Amino acid sequence: MVEKWLEQLRKNGYRLTEARQAVIQVIVKSNYALTPFQVYEAARAQYPALGLVSVYRTLEKLEELKLIRRVHQDCGCNAYLPQAEGHQHLIICQKCGLACYFEGDDLEDLFTKVGADHGYEVTGHWLQLFGTCAECEQK
Ligand SMILES: [Zn+2]
Ligand SMILES: [Zn+2]
Repeated sequence: MVEKWLEQLRKNGYRLTEARQAVIQVIVKSNYALTPFQVYEAARAQYPALGLVSVYRTLEKLEELKLIRRVHQDCGCNAYLPQAEGHQHLIICQKCGLACYFEGDDLEDLFTKVGADHGYEVTGHWLQLFGTCAECEQK
């Protein structure tokens, strides 16, 4: 997956500095929704000279290329996750940020029906559930 991302970035004329690679290493395999500051702290372990501005810029670029997606957080702050293949829905733990993608074909029918009931043709949707993951539930 890292290789795929690096390839995409190179193709788009993006220079892969050490700082940017450190950011990519952190987010590419994350199962947790990470805020830019969390990415910054984790990536600094690999590249101590990293600046927060580089983190923001790299995340922006990754989002633009649809390699990561921005998720909604309770606090109103931005957090990011690697993008899933194809159309997926998301569930996120409100305590630790653990995220999980799921499909759910019956949902697609429901949304089409809701649209029809209101005189809309539904052409897309974003669905994100909040909850508490099994591990946080035990605490
Ligand atoms: Zn949790
Ligand atoms: Zn859907």
